[in-house]
Amino acid sequence: MFDNLSEKLDKALHVLKGHGQITEINVAETLKEIRRALLDADVNFKIAKEFTNRVKEKAIGENVLTTLQPGQLMVKIVKDELTELMGGDVTGINLNGNPTVILMSGLQGSGKTTFSGKLANYLKTKKNKKPLLVACDVYRPAAIDQLHVVGVQVGVDVYSDRGNNDPVSIAKSAIAHAKTNGHNVVIVDTAGRLAVDEQMMKEIANVHKAIQPHETLFVVDAMTGQDAVNTAKAFNDILNFDGVILTKLDGDTRGGAAISIKSVVNKPIKFIGTGEKMEAIDVFYPSRMADRILG
Ligand code: GDP
Repeated sequence: MFDNLSEKLDKALHVLKGHGQITEINVAETLKEIRRALLDADVNFKIAKEFTNRVKEKAIGENVLTTLQPGQLMVKIVKDELTELMGGDVTGINLNGNPTVILMSGLQGSGKTTFSGKLANYLKTKKNKKPLLVACDVYRPAAIDQLHVVGVQVGVDVYSDRGNNDPVSIAKSAIAHAKTNGHNVVIVDTAGRLAVDEQMMKEIANVHKAIQPHETLFVVDAMTGQDAVNTAKAFNDILNFDGVILTKLDGDTRGGAAISIKSVVNKPIKFIGTGEKMEAIDVFYPSRMADRILG
């Protein structure tokens, strides 16, 4: 994961790690290389610039050059800032509703249906919940079939209503169904399109308004780089969502989305998807990710 970025940051910091004493020139060179590494990883120019500025200010503030192990202190500063950039403290998922209603949003192909299954499985096996999966894609019968397949895979009930083409009424009936059948979590999988369009946004906004979810999650494919950030912004403008799910982090992603999303929409990444299997889900810990990236 993020091998290329990891390698480049390691190289950037290598110069400092080797020195007892370092100079202002060493620091300036390192900051330049860090910025370059972030840009190569598809981090937005402004975010990369602000990042290195903050590292620089902290380095000055902590009098890095006069400390005993300046290189190590610099590495720590970069790690802390990277953690902060990716979200700082971990924010869990709100499971206080009865039932807790979770709305999934995102483009087609982002991994919504797969993640809905993973989340249902996670909540069932790790949090002792009894979830209900709800198919609200009224345009693609295959999407409904896919959710049923996923439901069977993880042993979770799936609610669908094939004749009904109104996602609001499906979602509402599903919640009523959950209440009468003892489901304490309802995961609503919605229709996505290949790109942001007005009708899709209107539809999901209507569902959102009608069911007032406890958690609205935005699912995005990490492989799409800066597009992931733009899509997140568009969905957040409409839904004011609670958290981001970054999928396909097992692929050859450069990492820019993971690093940039929090600072653009100011919403935490809550989970990551790391494969096609139902178990390939992880809670996102910014500090662990920063550790991983910086080796
Ligand atoms: P949806 O259209 O948003 O519901 O997307 P799907 O759940 O159908 O996922 C689209 C494709 O991405 C499928 O082939 C999934 O198996 C795949 N996929 C989903 N999540 C991941 C992931 O974390 N890693 C990998 N490698 N593939 C994923």
